[in-house]
Formats: sequence, C-alpha cells, structure tokens
Amino acid sequence: MSSVTKGAPIKGAVSASSATPVGKEESRVVSNFIRQIIDADNASGKHGGKVITRFPPEPNGYLHIGHAKSICLNFGLAKDYAGVCHLRFDDTNPVKEDIEYEESIKEMVQWLGFSFKDHLFYASDYFDTLYAFAQHFIERGLAYVDSQSAEEMRVNRGTLTEPGVDSPFRNRSAEESLRLFDEMKRGLHADGTHILRLKIDMASPNINLRDPAIYRIRHTGHHRTGNKWCVYPMYDYTHCISDALERITHSLCTLEFEAHRPLYDWVLERLVESGKLPAPNPQQIEFARLNLSYTVMSKRKLLELVEKGYVDGWDDPRFWTLAGLRRRGFTPASIRLFAERAGVSKAHQWIDMGDLERALRDDLDAVAARGMAVLDPIRVVIENYPEGQFEECSAPVHPHDESRGKRSFKFCREVFIERDDFMENPVKGFFRLVPGGEVRLRHAFIIKCERIEKDAEGNVTTIYASYDPATKSGTGGRNVKGAIHWVGKADGIQAEVRLYDRLFNVENPDAGEGDYKDYLNPHSLKLVRAWLEPSLASARPDQSYQFERNGYFTPDRKLSQPGALVFNRAVTLKDGWKPV
Ligand code: ATP
Ligand code: MG
Repeated sequence: MSSVTKGAPIKGAVSASSATPVGKEESRVVSNFIRQIIDADNASGKHGGKVITRFPPEPNGYLHIGHAKSICLNFGLAKDYAGVCHLRFDDTNPVKEDIEYEESIKEMVQWLGFSFKDHLFYASDYFDTLYAFAQHFIERGLAYVDSQSAEEMRVNRGTLTEPGVDSPFRNRSAEESLRLFDEMKRGLHADGTHILRLKIDMASPNINLRDPAIYRIRHTGHHRTGNKWCVYPMYDYTHCISDALERITHSLCTLEFEAHRPLYDWVLERLVESGKLPAPNPQQIEFARLNLSYTVMSKRKLLELVEKGYVDGWDDPRFWTLAGLRRRGFTPASIRLFAERAGVSKAHQWIDMGDLERALRDDLDAVAARGMAVLDPIRVVIENYPEGQFEECSAPVHPHDESRGKRSFKFCREVFIERDDFMENPVKGFFRLVPGGEVRLRHAFIIKCERIEKDAEGNVTTIYASYDPATKSGTGGRNVKGAIHWVGKADGIQAEVRLYDRLFNVENPDAGEGDYKDYLNPHSLKLVRAWLEPSLASARPDQSYQFERNGYFTPDRKLSQPGALVFNRAVTLKDGWKPV
C-alpha cells in the first residue's frame, strides 16, 4: 500500500522525462534489471539464446495505462532481442469474462503498435492438458480432492503467524480422488462441494504453498469452450503451465506475484521431472506496478465508475483506459514514450499525471498540424474594413516543416478573439488587447481597440476596432508586443470543443478516509462552442492538431461528424495544468 496522503504531493513520485530528447521517441536502450537477467541467460545459453515473453490479460475489463506499461515492456523486450511476445488471454474465470473485453484488448495492443499475428493464445486452449496434468498430480499422490466447505478451508488454512491444519480429506486415496475429480468434471457435483488441491505443505510459512486449490466446480458456460467444462483451473496453476507450454523464456509479472513464484516453480519442476514438460522452465521475474496520480487502477473500481455512470463508458476521454486515452487524443507513440520513461524497477512506482501529458506534448509538437480556434469567443468589428470583402491570409501547417505547405483563412470585417485576450482594465504586463491599445492578429494585421459595447450585466459583447493595412504579416511592416489568435466570421466554422480536467481532485483517491468516489471532480468536463479556422473542417479522429496557444486537440471518434465537429482537448500547451 502506498503511504500517500490525499491531496498532498506524492512522495517519491518520479518525473522521469527530463533526460529525454524532446520530439521523438527514444531509440537508445536503457538497461534495467530484467535486461541484465536476459543478457546473462543469453550468455549462458540457458534458453538457447531465445527470448519469448507474453502479455497475459484476463479478459475481464478494458486495458488501462498500467497494462500499457506491461505491454510495452513485454513486446518491447521481444523486439529488442529479436524474440517474440505472445498475447495470451488468461480466460479461466468464465463468470467475469466477456468477448467484448477480449476484442477491445486485441484492438488496443495493436493500436499501441504491437503485433501478435501468429502469437495469439488462450489459456482455455490448454484445458484438456491442464486437466490431464491434474490427473497426473493425483496419481503421483501430489493432489487430492478436498470436500471441506469453503469456510472450513479458510479456517484451516491458518494465518501468516499460525500454520495451517491438514484437511481430513488430505490422505484420500488417489483412486478416490480420481473418481471424484472425474465426477466433478461430469457435472455430478454442485459448485463448492469439492475442490482439487495440490498436496504441498500446510505448515509452509508461504501461504501460497499450503495445499493451493487448482480446480473448482463452476456450472457456468465459457465464452470460448461453451458448456464443455464445469470444472475450471485456477489462476496460479494455469498460468505457469501455459507459460511452459508456450516455451516462454521470461515470464514478467507484477510484484504481488513474488510470493507465488515458489508455487510456479513447484508445479513446473514436477512436470519436468516426470517428462510431461521439457526443461528449462520459464523464469518468473517480478517488477513494480505502475501507479499514476489522480487515478485508481483497480479493475473493480473502473467497472464501478462505468456501471454507475460516473464516466461515459470505458472510453470516456477523462479515463486512463487505453480506449479513453485514444479518444481523448493520446497517440500510441506518446504512450510508448511514457512507458519507456517510466522504466522498470522493483521499487513502488508512482508517476505523476504530468509525465503522461508531457509525453504527449513531446510527441505532438513535432508532428501536429497547427490551426487557430477561439474557445471563448468575443466579437470584434473592424470598422475601417469594408463589409463583404476579405483578405486572404496564410500560415504554415507546421512551423518547422515547410514541406507540409500552408493553410489559409480570410481576414474580414468581423472576427472572433478569445475573451481573455481582452482586458478593459489591464493588469501590469498584459500585452494583449486593451481599450485604445494595439495587438497583432496572428498571421494577419495589427488592430486597435477603439471602443467596446457591453450588455446590461456589464459583460463586453462587442469590441469595435480599426486595422492598419500596412501591417500584414510577412510584409515587413511594424510590429507590436502582443499577438493573439483569431478566426474570421467569413470562413470560420463552429464546433463543440470539450475541455477536460482531472477526474479526481486529489492525487491518490485510494488513500483518503472516505470512499474513492468522494474525490471525483464535479468539474471534469466543460463544453464550449468554439470558432475554428476553415482548415480544421476536414479534421478526422486519430489526427491531432495544435490549436495555437490552446493546446492539442483531436476530433472525438464517437461524436464528431463532418459538418458537426466535436473536438477533445487532449492536453494544454504548457505544463502545470490549470482547472478549466
Ligand atoms: P486483476 O488480475 O486483478 O484482474 P490486473 O490489473 O492484474 O487485474 P490482468 O488482466 O491480470 O489485470 O493484467 C495483465 C497483465 O498486466 C499482468 O501481467 C499484470 O501484471 C499487468 N499489469 C496490470 N496492471 C499493471 C500496472 N498497474 N502496472 C504494470 N503492469 C500491470
Ligand atoms: Mg492479474
């Protein structure tokens, strides 16, 4: 558990981005303890120089940013060592699993840029083998059917300080256990009446070795095996055998499985011993989970947020699910960059949300097309510019890449500027538009505020201005200190823009006294009606734009339509996010 207090800065939160060159994904390889193990294995020839890793999700939820770390690590190592990485669905719990989850997991792994074409596996494909191996364990006197109730089993398991107590069924003959196991399989017994356990050591200081359950009765259909089975193998038993059957060399998992490793090895060693599996066994290696500030990672909590409608589905753009991040406008490259910077270690890892946002900016700055959009428009009438006329203006699609050409838009009598680019009573150091003052409309002319009009409440409704025709951008005329973005009414388009704040208003929603949901931020979504320059009319989801001075935006893949665009702001331009 983390020692983070709610609202307080997270101790030990690392900002790993400083050492990284901006604007491109790292290509240099940073060594870590897992690479050192692989290098040593390659040097000794342990696995014949092969590297086969796997990403083994349970299809019981959508992938989140923590999974992305594991995906990038497993697929990344396979790539760097010219090996392969398997995508394996750990689909042993028919009650919680669903084809919808499976499909979304496949889609997201591919979206991240990884291929599992000929390396897609399912634990359920091993059900026959797992069953046969279980019979083998019974025959060797290494497993037995236990008929205690769940409550008796729980009590007899002991505690961290007290050894467990042998089940009265522990010395059941192999014949009897085999018969009962067969009856369990044939559906003759109800859920919970019998369970198959390994016979290891009820007094072991490691609770995982106190005769762990490996098969239970579940009269439930499975989304892949249908009604074939009513006994299902448990996770620990399935996982190590699946790894071994696929000849995984390095089985990477998160730290909470460290105490399960002796069980992993116990099962595999016995199967190798009796010639059921070839040596050497895969090596389980544990690394620290990724935790991200302002989020919760538990699948149960993510499901609750979805089911109770706190978010708008699994792909809500405020969510740190990969589907949500994609919809928000995060790119695969930015997530790979983030995972790379987060690194791998055995120490508890809290990463600041700002690091994820920085990775996106670092990716997009070099690639995103530019555009102007006014998010909180105020009308400016340029009185010395004739009605019905316009002046063609242009700007580069990308300021550092001329080959991408130019975008154009029309300067005209009526334009929109950002409400907070005008101040009636300016504070010191405000260089934008003020009464009687001048400002440059980017890529166009200098204008001067002549007078303003207000409504009954005193809000400015229209700014009346004049322009200086001798100041068109690029013609070498005079300049002024401030330059602001704008959109002309002649060719501007209107769109809905969604501005997001963090979903929680404390850094660690799990560490507070109350329920994590008490810390939901009620102001995490703000909709605005914006004016956009015409080049943005052709924007499509999966394309990112920098709206000058406002951040990075992308059309919403669910809601945006040609002619009725809806943009999400993925991230602001500067670090140090401020509430919207
Ligand atoms: P649960 O097992 O409780 O359903 P889980 O988050 O472990 O949840 P899995 O589907 O088992 O979900 O995860 C697949 C893989 O992703 C596992 O190998 C797991 O170790 C890894 N993983 C999950 N969460 C994180 C995280 N926050 N950081 C790094 N790796 C993670
Ligand atoms: Mg898991």
